[in-house]
Amino acid sequence: MKLIDLHNLSQKRLKALQASGIHHPQDLLYFFPRRYIDKSNIQPIRYLAGITDPVTVVGKVVAKDITGYGNKKRLEVIIQDKTASLKAVYFKGWKYFINQFQKGSWVALYGTAKKYGRYMSMAHPEIDQLGKPEEAGKLDSLIPIYPSNKNFSKAYISNKLIEEWVSQILSAEKIEEFLPEQILKKHKFPDRETAFRLIHNPPDRKKANAALERFKFEEFFLFELSMAKVKQERFERSAGIMMEPGNFTKSFFNDVLPFKLTHGQKTSLSDIKTDLKSGYQMNRLIQGDVGAGKTVVAIGAMLMALDSGHQAALMAPTEILAEQHYQTIKEYLEPLGIRYRLITGGQSAKLRQDILTDIEGGNCQIAVGTHAIFQETVKFNKLGLVVIDEQHRFGVKQRNEILLKGDHPHLLVMSATPIPRSLAMTIYSDLDISVVKDLPAGRVPVKTAVRSDKERENVYKFIEESVKNGDQVYVIFPLIEESEVMDLKDATMGFEKLKRRFPEISIELLHGWMKSEEKEAVMKRFVEDKTKILVSTTVIEVGVDVPNASIMIIEHAERFGLSQLHQLRGRIGRGNKQSYCILMPGQKLSRTGRYRLKKLVETSDGFEIAEADLKLRGPGDFLGTKQSGLPDFNYADIIEDRMLLEQAKNDAWQIIKTDPELSSAEHENLKNTFEPYFKEKAEFFGVG
Ligand code: ADP
Ligand code: MG
Repeated sequence: MKLIDLHNLSQKRLKALQASGIHHPQDLLYFFPRRYIDKSNIQPIRYLAGITDPVTVVGKVVAKDITGYGNKKRLEVIIQDKTASLKAVYFKGWKYFINQFQKGSWVALYGTAKKYGRYMSMAHPEIDQLGKPEEAGKLDSLIPIYPSNKNFSKAYISNKLIEEWVSQILSAEKIEEFLPEQILKKHKFPDRETAFRLIHNPPDRKKANAALERFKFEEFFLFELSMAKVKQERFERSAGIMMEPGNFTKSFFNDVLPFKLTHGQKTSLSDIKTDLKSGYQMNRLIQGDVGAGKTVVAIGAMLMALDSGHQAALMAPTEILAEQHYQTIKEYLEPLGIRYRLITGGQSAKLRQDILTDIEGGNCQIAVGTHAIFQETVKFNKLGLVVIDEQHRFGVKQRNEILLKGDHPHLLVMSATPIPRSLAMTIYSDLDISVVKDLPAGRVPVKTAVRSDKERENVYKFIEESVKNGDQVYVIFPLIEESEVMDLKDATMGFEKLKRRFPEISIELLHGWMKSEEKEAVMKRFVEDKTKILVSTTVIEVGVDVPNASIMIIEHAERFGLSQLHQLRGRIGRGNKQSYCILMPGQKLSRTGRYRLKKLVETSDGFEIAEADLKLRGPGDFLGTKQSGLPDFNYADIIEDRMLLEQAKNDAWQIIKTDPELSSAEHENLKNTFEPYFKEKAEFFGVG
């Protein structure tokens, strides 16, 4: 059937449906109730006073009348039960409602009762006609309530009408099942048709929930099937470049690196080595808390590429971080005679041209930079590996685009966003994952404390003393996008105040609105220990490494998220002396604000903090789809329903493994559903 076959579908109603994204009868089936109401609570009219929840009343229609003028015109109906009478009032659609009431007949009304003047009244109650009053007991007790909107109410698309349409569709349409039978059995899911019936007309809440689970699973399943498919297609299209560690790698680890690798670094490097030798393209995520030493892993991977005669690219999200990586590479790799260049946004045309020629000619072996690295003008001679640092804003699409580029380079992404591992494995399921869990030996855990404004002078004394002892200090101010100007003022004023308080100490200010050369110069002086106190906004947040900085003051700490505070704190505690993080909240501290700070004082385990953050903020914020490059699911929630997500992943990948083209008879329906879905999402997955 078509949408226009629906009963009582005017042009206006058709338009209202379309405006809400409903174009086919199937879309209406997927238009799920927002909640259910329970009509089984029948109350005598006389005892309604004081009941604020919606209830059902059962009575005989004794009068009906249209009264009032102009836009006050309304339908008033009086019904009566054994105890008293009640007035039902309809301000809109009264032409329709007037026919629902016949004098002398019985009705059940469902709504919220309120006393107006003499009468107990209900505005726009739901109506059920009854042959006799006893029938009220047999009414469907759970009523689906559909999401409504302006268009719907303008076109008089009532809840009841949607119910009618849904049941019309369900009796006219043949609803095909597309989930494989064994999956339905395994999870005890209702089949698709039953599930639609249960969602739209449930006998009880438990059954409605069971049906909803099935649809959540369906969403996850199609997503995971796509991930598996993306990976599989990539395998087919692009063989991995075979790489082996050689002299560069050996001399770096044996002669240059000043410390012993941690267990996590070793296993990550060995995972990478296996990938690079496998003949398949690497697409690996290195997950590790701040300060776990991911940079060394990245360098190890790049050297393996160089050893095999390829170029490598290292991309960082900010210029400061790119510059820092550049310095690290200089320190570690210059002794090996490796040639490397830095590409950032603010370079002069002449310099840029020189760098481009160098990269294209193959003279430059490692290109470090911001996203400027991926501009079209940058052409590599023989790119074998791309490393992306702090990748948490990178989606499937961007990853896939890189993997399908030119010679199909291997890809390594690194993240300090400590998503619980099982969750990471399901939402980034086209990636392989290595975890650098342990911090390098000799790290002294950062001591964290909360200090109020009253204690500020003590904090300042502490700073003064520490600087005398050779320590460096960060003072961080929040900079939140919507109020950048105001926050910047905060940081600037804080900076001026500190300069007045510490006239003898070299203090500098760093913020996102500075030109990149300025930023770099400021950062450089801090790295070189020429500046003792660095006042900064959160531009410092990501990845920056100055081991001598051992104190961090965070102003307005309550305005930062838990994970962000953890990231910030990760800038200190990088050397082997005791570091201190002092959280200075502003005046008003909410309960969650206090909880966040307390949590941070208690633990330094990034994974534990991530879990707490996740619980606090809910999934939307924690893994905002934009931030994480994840799709919007309509019914399912990747955090709350993560068990289901994991099951969907396992089932989907199992299927792609055994029947990659979905060509077997049992997968015929699945194929017919999956193919259009995948095509529609091609852009999202970066395969379009
Ligand atoms: P992140 O994982 O946050 O990117 P970095 O790679 O910046 O961490 O490393 C943090 C600091 O730890 C750096 O100063 C680095 O030199 C040092 N480091 C890394 N690995 C080790 C190790 N195995 N032993 C001692 N120090 C290490
Ligand atoms: Mg890092």
